[in-house]
Amino acid sequence: MRLTAEGWRTVFRSFAAKIAEQSAYLTELDAAIGDADHGSGMERGAQATLAALPEEGDAAAVLKAAAMSFIGKVGGASGPLYGTAFLRMSSALTDKDEPTREDLLSALEAGYKGLVERGKAEPGDKTMLDAWFPALEGLRAGGSLQNAAQAARQGRDATAPLVARKGRASYLGERSAGHIDPGAASSALFWDALAESLEG
Ligand code: ADP
Ligand code: MG
Ligand code: MG
Repeated sequence: MRLTAEGWRTVFRSFAAKIAEQSAYLTELDAAIGDADHGSGMERGAQATLAALPEEGDAAAVLKAAAMSFIGKVGGASGPLYGTAFLRMSSALTDKDEPTREDLLSALEAGYKGLVERGKAEPGDKTMLDAWFPALEGLRAGGSLQNAAQAARQGRDATAPLVARKGRASYLGERSAGHIDPGAASSALFWDALAESLEG
């Protein structure tokens, strides 16, 4: 695994490509249970990250650039949430010149904790946590990033029957059931990018 700055630059290049490719789909998901801006918002954040990627510096610097881009350019619920996750991951990797797999796990744990603290949601609330939580569980149990990404995709799909308890979709109550959560879908793309770039 290349967990250094170059690995993380690859993660965000891959994430941006996946988001661009699925932007219309993410917006379609958000049109059903939200305000139809998840694709465009995530695309703005991902493109701003590409423009801000530092050529020099460590993994923490790359994640900090991503955090600032999402906080500055995305808005809504998902901008501050992704921004917080990336910022916590950056802090966890500060001064790690050659991050290990343990460091990666700690960083992702810290990112997840940031999501929970910021959004006050729990797994099962039909949010991005439903992709992050099973992915992290798998990794914690010693699974590969590929398995974690698969768990994230399963978590995404499992949001479909759920009733949303957090975010804009919760305003719909029971009517939010029957649709995949957009943030869980974009999070599954993030875990795919991690697996592809750091383990591929
Ligand atoms: P907005 O709803 O403000 O337009 P987005 O459309 O960009 O923001 O993002 C919506 C996604 O954000 C949801 O699909 C959900 O995954 C996630 N989300 C919303 N509120 C929360 C929360 N409190 N905790 C975790 N994730 C949340
Ligand atoms: Mg929205
Ligand atoms: Mg919005």
